[in-house]
This record gives sequence, structure tokens and C-alpha cells, in this order.
Amino acid sequence: MQLDFQPLLLELKHPFRLATGMRTHTNAMMTQISMGGLTGYGEAAMPPYYGENHQSAAVFLTLAATTLQQYHYPLSAAMITAFMQEIDALAPGNHAAKAAVDIALHDLWGKMEGKPLWALWGLSPEKMPPTSFTLGIDSPDMLRKKLEEAGDFQILKIKLGADDDRAIIRTIREVSDKPIYADANQGWQDRQAALDLIYWLQEQQVQLIEQPFHKNDLESSAWLTERSPLPIIADESFQRMTDLNRIAGCFHGVNVKLMKCTGLSEGLRTIYAARAKGLRVMIGCMTETSCAISAAAQIAPLCDFADLDGCWLIRNNPFEMPELAQGIIQLNNAPGLGLYVKKT
Ligand code: MG
Repeated sequence: MQLDFQPLLLELKHPFRLATGMRTHTNAMMTQISMGGLTGYGEAAMPPYYGENHQSAAVFLTLAATTLQQYHYPLSAAMITAFMQEIDALAPGNHAAKAAVDIALHDLWGKMEGKPLWALWGLSPEKMPPTSFTLGIDSPDMLRKKLEEAGDFQILKIKLGADDDRAIIRTIREVSDKPIYADANQGWQDRQAALDLIYWLQEQQVQLIEQPFHKNDLESSAWLTERSPLPIIADESFQRMTDLNRIAGCFHGVNVKLMKCTGLSEGLRTIYAARAKGLRVMIGCMTETSCAISAAAQIAPLCDFADLDGCWLIRNNPFEMPELAQGIIQLNNAPGLGLYVKKT
């Protein structure tokens, strides 16, 4: 199998304001794995806070390409799992670069089988949860404009953890009454203040809280989870499957992202393992093209919540957008990821 890759700078439609600063771009590395006249597409989306970049991804993918040359037709789910375990051991970290290989392999496998991945895994597209749409904080006028872009989405995702979270929610409520997923991005410090705020947020039709406290402050998360009327979901505290034992009991659920957990192979196993521990599962994303979003969408029917808006937040998506109906991503019948390269 032949692995190729090219860097891509994803341009954000609106600069991303976070507690850690402002961002206008996300580094991505696009991959293709070819065999027998078919090509599978993959992607690494690399926001700066996870420490991967074009250079680190190129180094890792060069290593992976050499290993991949030893694998031959026919591709199977078992072979992909074995291969991913092999390249996982090549170097620590590099989770997004690993996901870029995993996603391309799965797309190629689906194309060889002539079936979409969701069908190969026996999943039901009608179980797809609605996807939330991230709304950056802005003036009410700008928010109205951004909401028009949010069009069909039925759930809003709002970043909290700033100085005045109630003011942010009040501003949103001036322009929309759609349900809200609130992401505190580790921004809260005081347990009781957090709990009081959550009761108020519940009255504002907020439906879940992501990552209230610092990722290592599991004690505070456990305290809050015991008392919160809304589900508390781990994001920064939870990277991949091996973290499940550590965080189970401290949260109601986990946010599984392909770029954190090295792709679909582990992502799928992580969802089942989380469920077995009684955890609820959100499937999330970075700013990504339709490639990684379509990959996550394949396993999203197994999840309670979906936050797969990444490709709606960028300007230069090289692929066609996924189809959306009433805020729900529609899985199609095209093989693999069901992805179409945009015609120029
Ligand atoms: Mg988050």
C-alpha cells in the first residue's frame, strides 16, 4: 500500500476565541492510501494545544509509510487494527497523524468492499444524534449573522469559562432559543459556583456541560458529577481508551474525538468500552474538513451526543459538505467514508 500526504492550512470562517488566545487557522495534513486503483482519504487536524504540527506529522507519516508497504491486499478490519497497533508503537503521541492513517485505511477498506463503513459495522443511520454548531462569542448583531450560517443546526455549542458566563448565555438567548451544549474548556475553578451556575444554565435550556475544571482536577469533576443535574462530559481529561479507567466515576460521559484517540479503529472500541462502564458518549471534532467529519459520522450512531460541525467552520474544505437534514448528518450509501472530492 502506498501512503501520500500533503500539508493544508484550514482557514477558519471566524477567528476562534478561546481562554488560551485567538486562532485564524488550523494545521491539517491530508493523507491518501492507494492500492489496486482505489484511494482512501484521511486527515490529521492539529490544533496547537496538542503539540502536533506539519513537521511532526511528516516525520511520523514517513515512518508509517514504510511499515504500510509491508501490508498487502486484501484489507480487512482485523488487518487495520493490527496495523494501527503496530504504528501506534512506532512513536508516542502523534495521535492526529495516526488518525490520518487510520481514516484513510478505513476509507480504502470500505471502497474495496463497495460498502459504507457504517454498513460494514452494522450501524443504523437513523440512530444518528443531531450535531451541535459552535457559536463563537460575539456582539448580538454578529451572533445573529453567525446563527444564519448555523441555519439547519438545532443545537448550539457555546464556549464558557470566561469572566461572565451568564452574560454570554443571556446574549445568546437574545437571538436564539435553541438548546445549548456548554463547554467550559477547563475554565471553572470554584466547585460550588460551578454547581450554582449549572442550575441556572439548566433553566436556560443548556443540556450538558463539557470539561468544567482543569483536566487534572478529577476530584472537583467527581464532586460536581455527583451533584450536577446536567451531564458532565470529559474532553481535555480524556484522550484515548487507556484513560477510561482513570476518569470513570469522575464524569457522566466522555467526548471521543478521532484526533485524540488515533482514529476509527480505537474510536469504535472506545465507544463500546465507555458504554460498558455506564458512561455516556459524545462524539466531537476539531476544525476539520469533511474527511475527518465524515469518518466520525460513521460511528456517531453509537453515541448520545454529536458535535461534528468542524467542516462548517472552515472556508477551504477540499471535499463536498456532508448532507444535513434538520441538523442531523445524513450518512449516504457511497463506499468508505461516503466522501466526494470537490470538483474545481
Ligand atoms: Mg471541548
